[in-house]
Amino acid sequence: MKLLLRLTVAVVFIISLQADSQTNNPTKPGNDRMKVFIDALMKKMTLDEKLGQLNLPGAGDIVTGQAGNSDIGKKIEEGKVGGLFNIKSVAKIKDVQKLAVEKSRLKIPLLFGMDVIHGYETVFPIPLGMSCTWDMQLVEKSARIAATEASADGINWTFSPMVDIARDPRWGRVSEGNGEDAYLGSQIAKAMIKGYQGNDFSTGNTIMSCVKHYALYGAAEAGRDYNTTDMSRVRMYNEYFPPFKAAVDAGVGSVMASFNEIDGVPATANRWLLTDVLRKQWGFKGLVVTDYTGINEMEAHGIGDLQTVSARALMAGIDMDMVGEGILTTTKKSIQEGKATLQQVDYACRRILEAKYKLGLFDDPYRYCDEKRAASEIFTDANRKIAREIAAQSFVLLKNQGNILPLKKSGTIALIGPLANNRENMPGTWSVAANFSKAISVLDGLKEAAGSNVKILTARGSNLDEDSLFEERAGMFGKSLHRDSRPADVILKEALDIANQSDVIVAAVGESAEMTGEASSRSNIEIPAIQKELLKALLKTGKPVVLVLFTGRPLALKWENDNVPAILNVWFGGSEAGSAIADVLFGDVNPSGKLSTTFPQNVGQVPLYYNHKNTGRPLPEGKWFQKFRSNYLDVNNDPVYPFGYGLSYTTFTYSDIKLSSSSLKGNQKLTASITVTNSGKADGKEVVQLYIHDVVGSTTRPVKELKGFQKIDLKAGESKTVNFTITPDDLKFYNYDLKYDWEAGDFEIMIGGNSRDVKVAKINWTK
Ligand code: BGC
Repeated sequence: MKLLLRLTVAVVFIISLQADSQTNNPTKPGNDRMKVFIDALMKKMTLDEKLGQLNLPGAGDIVTGQAGNSDIGKKIEEGKVGGLFNIKSVAKIKDVQKLAVEKSRLKIPLLFGMDVIHGYETVFPIPLGMSCTWDMQLVEKSARIAATEASADGINWTFSPMVDIARDPRWGRVSEGNGEDAYLGSQIAKAMIKGYQGNDFSTGNTIMSCVKHYALYGAAEAGRDYNTTDMSRVRMYNEYFPPFKAAVDAGVGSVMASFNEIDGVPATANRWLLTDVLRKQWGFKGLVVTDYTGINEMEAHGIGDLQTVSARALMAGIDMDMVGEGILTTTKKSIQEGKATLQQVDYACRRILEAKYKLGLFDDPYRYCDEKRAASEIFTDANRKIAREIAAQSFVLLKNQGNILPLKKSGTIALIGPLANNRENMPGTWSVAANFSKAISVLDGLKEAAGSNVKILTARGSNLDEDSLFEERAGMFGKSLHRDSRPADVILKEALDIANQSDVIVAAVGESAEMTGEASSRSNIEIPAIQKELLKALLKTGKPVVLVLFTGRPLALKWENDNVPAILNVWFGGSEAGSAIADVLFGDVNPSGKLSTTFPQNVGQVPLYYNHKNTGRPLPEGKWFQKFRSNYLDVNNDPVYPFGYGLSYTTFTYSDIKLSSSSLKGNQKLTASITVTNSGKADGKEVVQLYIHDVVGSTTRPVKELKGFQKIDLKAGESKTVNFTITPDDLKFYNYDLKYDWEAGDFEIMIGGNSRDVKVAKINWTK
């Protein structure tokens, strides 16, 4: 009887806590309630059940990597699963959640994660393209829509944003990040997290975000995926960590460890990285998950067997084990042998339960499983309209000789290229929830926008690549280009025939969607040779050629820039990209994207990035070779297109910089102003960029660093003055002793429309 009474009290207690969990914003007093609730729950948990929470198997119809899963349902009932990922549809997720909350002993709900990287069914541009909008409101909006759609379909956790700084275009995953710059990357990280999580991620249409891949993953040697990284701490702190730190400051709910090693210890077992830096220095309080089989892969890294690496990961600060089940299956033994501690299991389990609590899952495990929402909030006309607008903003006009663009809505257009009439490739890599058949191809988009005065002819012109096996590898995950088996000269001739009948040729060429993304590194970063041959043949017709370039990485475009009159880089613009391409080609939208990554002349210059150090033997400006200087015999040091670059259908002129003062002291503020004039004939948007050069430092400083930007609208003929406020905080950096501070001295303030063409003003700032 006594026992029954106690049980009843406990149940009432739990129920009342569940009701209370509505006020579960961690910054509100509800946080204490969360602690009381989780303390009570954890008291009831066995070690096996705690380890079960740490287990994150993959599931369902969308799986990456090699590891498979079976008997998931049984494991859920046994309390051996904390969450699942990449399972799509509200009905399936509801069924699985039911198992957890009805069949498992403690009825703890599951997390449902997914790689919602750049949209859900409404797909936005790949992150590299999105970063070229330099528009943080749009970035946030895209994440907001992605969260709304994903949460309507059962998902409560996304493995995004990916904020790895990437300076090596050979690495396929440059497409998934925000380019080469720490400052821009940090702004985007904040905007994405705000979009996904809002101010409180329990509202039902916000989801938990996971910043990845922590850390240095983008610095893989030779650009080969999963490869070794090795880097000084000064560089880590100044150049690779900032977007992660920004994500933590923005309240990101979770962090994913990267696959690579750091100082000889894989990130997944690197206690310095996961605990000392992340938790102790930055104050991160959320959960840390491994990447896909990240623990198991440490056996191949060569630091021990599964039991050893699982214990090392746990003790380093990993909370959740994605796919590999090393923690689930070996930790008991490790605890018995003194290699892991119960306390560490408790820490990890608590963080996972806290995430569930903050998501409101204890309150209502089906909070994210509302069929009505699923039916009405996904891939809506309104969302698609915004995706179309964002896609157009992400395109970068690289060249427009003789103002070939915009095209007239009359005459005959020959649309040619292996990417002209293909829907599957439009969404780009990591579009796991997309419905490819609903994506808008370039042909669809042009036809819809052109009107009755334009005749559109189309032909393939060439396959993606001469090598059919390469093409197969570049067309995975249902993104085939449906290779044309006819001889290359027949395919080409068909295209030349329609080219000759046209007034203008639009060549849709470049990379296929899966030529970038995970495990899609390339040692050659040019447009495949067969497509270049196509371009050459099209140019020979003497007709104007517009190159609509698809790519997920900065390509080496020296030849194209020298020979093709107009180049519009459209990345992979998402489900609405075809319409957005038409909007820009016909001038209904004036392009305004600016590169977030440098385009080198050739792969030999890699890594090439704007915020490099000067060296002791810099090449004098305007020169391209001098013996005993830092340069090459066969190519100058310039990129084809610098960071921050992008043209418009109008032109912008910049005044000189006006400073509020040229000598400052202590915590004063500096205002740097510049007047930008739209000196052309079309209305347009311009991204005004602020760079600072710290002329003398106790450690060497980059030649310039982005410190601010503003995207402004200017009507034709209009001028606007843009003001940047600069404080000593903007001058801070990590010095040799990893002390974060600013140093008095001379600085150059630079403002311009890209990182190369800037106005310069000098100041002195004393302490
Ligand atoms: C990728 C991650 C991704 C995970 C889950 C891994 O292979 O590196 O970025 O989130 O799979 O799909």
